[in-house]
Amino acid sequence: MLYNVENEGSGKETDRMANSNGSNPMVNGNGSNCMVNSNGGNPMTNNNNGIGEDSDTMRVAIGTAAVLGLARCKQECLPTTAHLLMPGQCLLDCAFCAQASSAPDTDRLSRIAWPEFELSQALKALEAGSSKFKRVCLQTINGSGGAEAILDYAMQIIKATDLPTSVDIRTTDMGLIDALFVAGADVVGLPLDAVTPQIYEDVRGGSFQEHLDLLEAASSKHPGRISTHIIVGLGESEKEILRALEKLHEWGVRVGLFALTTVQTEQGKWLTPPRLEAYRRIQAAKWLVENNHPSPSVNRAREIYFSDKDLLNVPGRAFQTSGCKDCNRPYYNERPGDVPFNYPCSLSREDYKTAMKMTRL
Ligand code: SF4
Repeated sequence: MLYNVENEGSGKETDRMANSNGSNPMVNGNGSNCMVNSNGGNPMTNNNNGIGEDSDTMRVAIGTAAVLGLARCKQECLPTTAHLLMPGQCLLDCAFCAQASSAPDTDRLSRIAWPEFELSQALKALEAGSSKFKRVCLQTINGSGGAEAILDYAMQIIKATDLPTSVDIRTTDMGLIDALFVAGADVVGLPLDAVTPQIYEDVRGGSFQEHLDLLEAASSKHPGRISTHIIVGLGESEKEILRALEKLHEWGVRVGLFALTTVQTEQGKWLTPPRLEAYRRIQAAKWLVENNHPSPSVNRAREIYFSDKDLLNVPGRAFQTSGCKDCNRPYYNERPGDVPFNYPCSLSREDYKTAMKMTRL
């Protein structure tokens, strides 16, 4: 199949065309055309089975697949973390997620394509190509196999490589978190995504407070080994993000910042990315909070603003991808050629100057 996953901001549904033999996916997932290797084995098509029915495959982020020799792809900045995704369709229905049960196109997560391979092939490639990465991240879905399937996938990855492994899960179960650490995970990610109770309820359902309580308890039980994700652009104010960052830092939780990727909800509404200027302010504020500098101020419009002294403490690193150590997630949130929300590699002097300029109101 030929996938055109790059259609963001157009307001149109993602284009998808099938070629004649239905195999050998060629993916425009990171700005250049990427081709899954025909000799790389047998890339599977996504059949949307629950994990219980589909547990002999693994999905691999297209940039990771290219580094592992499973695909060909021109990449300006290589991924430093190998990103893997459990196959099947999630039974949950987060409004912003391309893997949600009602999502029309589950071939993506963020704006990346994830071709599906036989599990043994993906694990073999990971084992052989471990030295090309500094970390592995397993993104999980809540499929019909439940916690057992998540644990099983994580254990197989941990067995295949000596790399530190992050496992990103949606759970309320401390038992699963404990079990993942016993199995050898380095970090467990409990993505919060939204920073207010109302937005949390609207976009994912469930209790925001319970999730916060779990993050605090898990971080206290496993210090330095719990991470979370925050998505900017779900309708929150800059002030609300800042307060969440302060709280999470106080609890010792690592935060990966994401910009909302354009996605169409079940109701046909298009959610669109945040303004880059707002994102830059949040990145700069995050850097200050996490490096124990005084928090910046907030104005009456609930925007973050910085004194000159604040900004002296903000380096280029503040605008690079954040989250687990060595996770740079190239092209997760942006099209190649666009100014990235999260720089996956170091910024040039010019990029840094522009980013800093954007932090000023
Ligand atoms: S920050 Fe990166 S490595 Fe960590 S859980 Fe998120 S995507 Fe995975």
